[in-house]
This record gives sequence, structure tokens and C-alpha cells, in this order.
Amino acid sequence: MIFNTIAAIATSQTIAAIAVIRVSGSEAFTISNKIFKHHRKNNFNINDAQSHKSYFGNIIDGNEIVDEVLITIFKNPYSFTGEDTVEISCHGSVFIQQKILQLLIENGAQTAKAGEFTQRSFLNGKMDLSQAEAVADLISSQSAASHKIAINQLRGGISNELSALREKLINFASLIELELDFSEEDVEFANRDDLKDLVTSINAKVTSLLKSFNLGNSIKNGVPVVIAGKPNVGKSTLLNALLNDEKAIVSEIAGTTRDAIEDTFVIEGIQFRLIDTAGIRSTTDVIESIGIERTFEKINTAQIVLHLLDATNFEVEEIETVLNDERYQGKQLYVIINKIDTAELERTFEIYSTKYTNIICISAKEKRHIELLNKKLLDAAGANELSSNQTIITNSRHFEALLNTQNDLNSVLKGLQNNITGDFLAMDIRRALQHLGSITGEISSDDLLSNIFSKFCIGK
Ligand code: GDP
Repeated sequence: MIFNTIAAIATSQTIAAIAVIRVSGSEAFTISNKIFKHHRKNNFNINDAQSHKSYFGNIIDGNEIVDEVLITIFKNPYSFTGEDTVEISCHGSVFIQQKILQLLIENGAQTAKAGEFTQRSFLNGKMDLSQAEAVADLISSQSAASHKIAINQLRGGISNELSALREKLINFASLIELELDFSEEDVEFANRDDLKDLVTSINAKVTSLLKSFNLGNSIKNGVPVVIAGKPNVGKSTLLNALLNDEKAIVSEIAGTTRDAIEDTFVIEGIQFRLIDTAGIRSTTDVIESIGIERTFEKINTAQIVLHLLDATNFEVEEIETVLNDERYQGKQLYVIINKIDTAELERTFEIYSTKYTNIICISAKEKRHIELLNKKLLDAAGANELSSNQTIITNSRHFEALLNTQNDLNSVLKGLQNNITGDFLAMDIRRALQHLGSITGEISSDDLLSNIFSKFCIGK
């Protein structure tokens, strides 16, 4: 496809050692040539230069030198966008970056829209849609786990799984449509039992991908953890132990953690979003009650709840009460018995942790058994599934498409059960194919594309 030539600053527009400006399109070489002067060869022309090579020279504005730069040439189709591309590495002054971009525009380039380079890459067949979306995820990944998922998707993880499923289904759709051509003769090319087996197995795959979304989503955004418990049980101290810095104010006075503090920490590559609480109790203190309201809201958004009890001020019935607390329903709940640093307490409470997997005894102050707590947090976040290299869905658009596919496949199964005619069956299968195809962009609309790429940053 032929598009106009676009240019953008690809690095973040702050002062840095170097910055990169990208130019892509059929005029990329001609436009760049007008403002680039090779440091030795007077008659150097980018149009005749070798691909995948860098050249040293000056960016000039008339007779004036703007900067000493290195340009890298990529001839189509061997570039990120699939088009002729020039990458100008200049010094990272914001003024220089803007000036070079302005010169490119004066010479015929247009400013790139958000995500336009990646969009072109997709439109020129360099990558499919889910891979293009993975580029955005890769840029924003903040932990080893989210990075791993994005790289897997960029390398075609989801696309490969889906295209294998689609291909098999397309075969059946064609066979059934062929039957329709011979409808008078009452033939059956598509074996209904085989179709049922296939749809059932695709459905199982789709269901497992759907399930992975929960894990994928929380890994992408950080697994939300709430610390709950009465005042003075050691919530702030635990927060500090997990964060390894002094974010929250620790105080002897009950209820000093006034605000819901949110922070993140990483265990073995998985990011957790930790939400501290203002202490669960009724209060007349206005500021503190706002904090507590907020804490209850936060519990709703949490995946994991750590409910702290104080070992030095403790009744066994409390454990039951916490485990049966309605607010924690559907959450992964751990009862943490804190302050076991007194010797005789440690012994007593060890019995609990060996007997119950969701009771952990720690000393937040002395950082005892924090390792065990970390391990439990990893289990609860689904770290085991992640290490099994299974494909994980992180994108809500993919989730929705898979959900629709699942509905369509269920209709196919129901249709088979009720012996519906081939034309209806074919319709449901086609619909499922469409939904599956929308993930990788085999089937896409302009609206969808502009919606996806507008969320990218400029220059990507
Ligand atoms: P919060 O109100 O639940 O946030 O409780 P804090 O973290 O402010 O702790 C209240 C008090 O308990 C402080 O004096 C802490 O030093 C103390 N504390 C917290 N954790 C431990 C622990 O593991 N052992 C002991 N002995 N004291 C602790």
C-alpha cells in the first residue's frame, strides 16, 4: 500500500543523550536527503545509499548546521513499517529534535498520528493485529511477567494458536456450504460427529484462553492486593516490609494510616499493587472514616486480601470470623497472624501455618516469614500457570472477541444437537470465524483500527 510520508520523534521528548526521529513512506529518502549532508561525500544521495547501514553527517537548514547526526536507512520492504524508512539519531536536546522534525515537515513530510508507524506495519502485512497490539504492551511493560506475555504475543503466540483453530473450522464451513449446493441430493460432506468433536475441542481452547485473561490482566496492571485488619495490628509495618521502604507512617497511635496508600512491588517478575488500609473499625474521626470508606471500595477491586491479626492480642474465634467475612467472598484470602516475634508465640502459631494453607504467621517488624508470604502471593497470582508457557490473554478486545466466539460455538453445538439444517449451521460457524478472525485482524474495520492505534504514543 502507498501512503504519504510521515515523520515523528520516536523517543521521549525530554533532554537525553540522543533522540531518534523516524521518517517513513515513499518520499522518506528524498525528503531526508534535502536536509542531510554526508560528512565526507559531497554527492552522497540517500536514494542511492545501501539499506541497513548508518551514515554520519549533518542536518542542515540552508547553510546552517543544526546538528551532527547518524542516519540509518531501511529500504522497503525490510523495515518496521514495510516502507522506505530513515531513522535520524540526533543529540537529545528538545530544540534540536523539534527543529529536525520541523525541517522534515517543511520539505514535505507529514506529522505522524499516534501509532501510525505500527498501523502501517499492520496494513503492509508485516504483523497481524494482535502482534501490533503487543507492541504497545511491550512499550508499557513494567515487570518481567508482563514483558514475557507481550513478547510471546509479539512473536505470534496468540495468532498461531488461533489460526490453527480457524483453519480447521474453515474446512468444515466450506464442506457444509458445499452441501448446500447439492441440497436436492441430500448429501452430507461434513461428518456431524467430527464437527462436534472439533467444535468441542476449539471451545475448550477458547475457554482456557478466556480464563487466562484474569491472570493476564492482573499481571499487566499489577496484581491488586489489599492489607486489611484492625488498627495497630501492623499493617503499615507489613507494607513497609513488602515495599522495602518507609512509604507509610508507622505509629504507636491507633489509626495513623489515614489514607489508602497504593504502591507496587515485584516478586520474581510479577508486579503487585499493594493497597494499604486505614484499619477496619467504626470511627467518629471524619478524616479517618473517609479513609475507611475508601478501603472497603479497594477491597472490592482486590484479587488478594491479606487480613492481619495481632498475635499479642488475639482470640482464635477471630480466624473463623475473618474466613467467613462476606466482604472477602470471591477473593483469595490469607489470614496473617503478625507479631510472632516473642519466642513462645512463634511456637504456638507455627501449628496454624502448618495446618492451614491460608494462615501465615509472621513478624512484620523483624521481617520473619516474609519469604513464605511472598511465595503465597506468587501462588495466588497464578505464577505457576505463567511459567508453563501457556498463551495468556491480556487484551480486553481479545477477551470480548473470544467470548463472542464461545457463544457462537455453543450455538453450533446446540444446532448439532437439534439437527438443524446446514444453512443455519454454516451461519453460526461463519460468525465464530469472524469473531476469531477479528483478533488477528484477518477481519477488521477502519473504526476498529483507528480505535486501536489511537491509543499508541506518537512515533510508534
Ligand atoms: P497499623 O495501625 O495496623 O498500620 O499498625 P502499625 O504498622 O502502625 O503498627 C502498630 C505497632 O505495632 C507499632 O508500634 C509497630 O512497631 C508494632 N508492630 C508491627 N509489627 C510488629 C511485629 O511483627 N512485632 C512486634 N513486636 N511489633 C510490631
